[in-house]
Amino acid sequence: MIYPVTVYGDALLRKKAQPVEKDYEGLGDIIENMWETMYSSDGVGLAAPQVGLSLRIFTVDATSGADEEPELKDFKKVFINPQIIELSGDEWIMNEGCLSLPEIREDVSRPDVVRIKYFDENFVEHDETFHGYAGRIIQHEYDHLEGVLFIDHLSSLRKRLLRSRLNNIAHGKVQPRYKIKVPVK
Ligand code: ZN
Repeated sequence: MIYPVTVYGDALLRKKAQPVEKDYEGLGDIIENMWETMYSSDGVGLAAPQVGLSLRIFTVDATSGADEEPELKDFKKVFINPQIIELSGDEWIMNEGCLSLPEIREDVSRPDVVRIKYFDENFVEHDETFHGYAGRIIQHEYDHLEGVLFIDHLSSLRKRLLRSRLNNIAHGKVQPRYKIKVPVK
C-alpha cells in the first residue's frame, strides 16, 4: 500500500516520534508499505512521520548511487529506534531535497561521519559508522524522528526567502508526482 506523504505544515512532522516495541502490531506491513511509498516517489530515504506515523523508523536505499560511490552497493536498510552515538568529521555542503518539502532544494551543511546504533527489521541490533552520501541520508532521516526538517539547518535569511513557498506547500499548492496529504484545507 502506498501511503500519502505528509508535507510541511503537518504538526506530525514537528513531533518527536515514539519508540517501536519489538512486537508492534503490523510492523512488517508498515515497513513493506514504507518501501513501496519510497520507491513510488523516487525517494532515497523515508521516515515514518512522513507517512503519518509517529514511530522511530526510517528506510533508506541509495544503492543506485553505487556507480559513483561503490560502498553504497549494500546501502539498503531499515533503521528502527536509531540512536546517533556520534557525529564527527568535517562539515560539507550538499543540495538536499525532501518528499515532505516538494519542489524545494537547498544547500545544507552537515558533519561527514555518523556513528549510529539501531535495530533492523528483524530487531537485530547494529552499531555502525557511515560517511559521505550514506551518512548524509541517515542524518536527514534521523532528523525527521526528532521533528526536524532540513530547512531548520538554513540561515534565517534563507528561511525567510522560502516562507511563501512553504506556505504554498502547507495549503497544497504544489503538484509533486506522488500523493500528498494536504495539511491545511
Ligand atoms: Zn526528508
